[in-house]
Amino acid sequence: MYNKITVLGSTGSVGKQTLAICQNYNLSVVSLACKSNWRLLLQQIRQFQPAAVALCTNDKNLIAEFKEALAATVFSSSTNATYCGPQVFCGEDAAEKLVEFPCDLAVGAISGLAGLASNSAFLQHGVDLALANKESIVCGAAILDRAKKQGNSKIISIDSEHAAINECLKAGRKEDFKKIWLTASGGPFRNWPAEKIAQAELKDALRHPTWNMGAKITVDSASMMNKGLEIIEACYLFQVNFKQVEVVVHPQSIIHSAVEWQDGQVTAQMSFPDMQAPIKAAIFTPAKIAGVTQAFNFFDARACSLTFYPPDFNKFPCLSLAQSAIMKGGIYPLVLNAANEAAVNAFLEEKIRFGRIAQAVAYALDLCAGRPELPAADDLATVLALDKQYRTYVREYLHV
Ligand code: NDP
Ligand code: MG
Repeated sequence: MYNKITVLGSTGSVGKQTLAICQNYNLSVVSLACKSNWRLLLQQIRQFQPAAVALCTNDKNLIAEFKEALAATVFSSSTNATYCGPQVFCGEDAAEKLVEFPCDLAVGAISGLAGLASNSAFLQHGVDLALANKESIVCGAAILDRAKKQGNSKIISIDSEHAAINECLKAGRKEDFKKIWLTASGGPFRNWPAEKIAQAELKDALRHPTWNMGAKITVDSASMMNKGLEIIEACYLFQVNFKQVEVVVHPQSIIHSAVEWQDGQVTAQMSFPDMQAPIKAAIFTPAKIAGVTQAFNFFDARACSLTFYPPDFNKFPCLSLAQSAIMKGGIYPLVLNAANEAAVNAFLEEKIRFGRIAQAVAYALDLCAGRPELPAADDLATVLALDKQYRTYVREYLHV
């Protein structure tokens, strides 16, 4: 079990759920990081009294507003009368500076590639990482591996499917493993025709049927790019070939994933969808902590008719694009992610329709195919430079 927690991405969906657990179980919160939501960060500082915080932006106005509000804050507490505020770091790389404040678990819940630098900094510093931020695996597997080795630390996935697979794998021997069944809800467009999906707008994509998450991952779930990124994540975390990971659409999100064994048996993990479960599993492992938010019941309407379908690769081209990037390897997954982040940002700003996301990703992967001279991206500077370059190509392509 871990007691002293740092939350990277504390103002987001996973970050807030992590802090709720810290509150309920009286865990000490060492440091917090976010990008620009300083008002919520300030509330979190009042509530959790962290030793340090990072506001990861270069926006001078935001930084000034935050520092002014923090200076005007009077801290009062029955538990720590001497607390007079955290040490503050600002700037795009501020989260990495939090490694100087000793904790025993960092929760990696920044969204997008922006999480890679701080995730690897904590691992390198010898801190175990409860990782939600799959984009940093997709783009920086070699960097995370090196950091783990240098820090003798480990990654515990809190992505619900991967946390489920981790549980399922405990049921058998490595030699008996056959494959992973990675479940997907299918998102809000599961029953829409392809032409309607292409024209979908932001409000449609943000209506996720089973999970309440941040905007970027919700759009990725609607395009099924999220599942594509999760195949790469599974290959990295469990050291399997992508051919050993099969996606199955399961609209109820009750079975969070499964492992099939050589003898045809399957071990699956099920519960009502709740991100607190994988976060708690990471923090309290190996204990199963009491106090679930939703007790399971087979007779509940959500659980009594579980259904399963193969994914429709024609309706969800992002899934096949992700598969082709995995097959090609090298910098393809990084380019896939860069193009997707740039296109999803444009979609979140309502500058493009939904169908343009997949078109932009396909465009970027094609560009990459014509450039065999590209370097291997196994250091942070190269990863960030390539990411920037491909985001620029995609923005030009989309005219945004
Ligand atoms: P949110 O968008 O809700 O939150 C993102 C968090 O990251 C916010 O705290 C945000 O700060 C911070 N952030 C964004 N950009 C930066 C940056 N450049 N530097 C520092 N901090 C930054 O996302 P989610 O919580 O939904 O997702 C976080 C990660 O977890 C993603 O990688 C997602 O794929 C993964 N994940 C999420 C799940 C979920 O249920 N939500 C499930 C499984 C995985 P600010 O608020 O100031 O912008
Ligand atoms: Mg997931």
